Amino acid sequence: MSRSERRIGILGGTFDPPHEGHLMAARESAAAFSLERVLFVPTGQPWQKDDYSDPEDRFMMVVLATSTDPLLAMSRIELDRSGLTYTVDTLEELRRFYGDDARFYFILGADAALNLGTWVGLDRLAALTDIVAVARPGSDLAGLGGGEAWPEIHRLDVEGLDVSSTALRERLRRGEDLGPHVPAPVAAYIAARSLYLGK
Ligand code: NAP
Repeated sequence: MSRSERRIGILGGTFDPPHEGHLMAARESAAAFSLERVLFVPTGQPWQKDDYSDPEDRFMMVVLATSTDPLLAMSRIELDRSGLTYTVDTLEELRRFYGDDARFYFILGADAALNLGTWVGLDRLAALTDIVAVARPGSDLAGLGGGEAWPEIHRLDVEGLDVSSTALRERLRRGEDLGPHVPAPVAAYIAARSLYLGK
């Protein structure tokens, strides 16, 4: 690492809702790669999903999840861009903002990492960012691709939390509480806005 190099983590996600697993992936990546901060970037219109919550609700929940930890920050860059959300467009914008001396580490969980081969602009991504593929217990990254046109991929094993946004939405739909893995301000926001009850 050159003396002037800044290392920035980027955690993109639908965050529907954000939970402690996201926070753990961010913090453990920061510790492992000496990241100065991890930028949470909620997707505007994820092109591989049909059903997701209002972007402004997801924005508010990410603010509430990240605002008390100075290591964490968030960006509206994808929420404020029109059209479908492609990560490569986001990283090009962030590159212009941070300049050439910043090194990006785009953090992905195992499922998302295994899907990387389907991403739009994968070859352009390679020049913009490294990838941190976070492996939690039970996840299998054996099928993770790679090659000349791919970004550099670092595997990071984390202890992991057995929590997913999908499981949390299902709990609420069944009338159960959220359990221990949602930051309290996020849980309060979900309750106040009656999110996920009808879905
Ligand atoms: P998400 O469900 O909100 O999750 C965000 C990230 O956190 C994912 O990488 C997810 O990995 C990880 N995660 C979730 N639970 C975790 C836990 N308990 N412990 C550790 N990590 C955990 O986000 P998403 O909808 O998968 O989207 C991820 C990013 O990929 C977004 O920025 C999206 O825009 C981007 N993407 C880009 C393209 C493209 O073409 N450019 C295509 C698809 C996605 P898991 O998937 O393993 O849960």
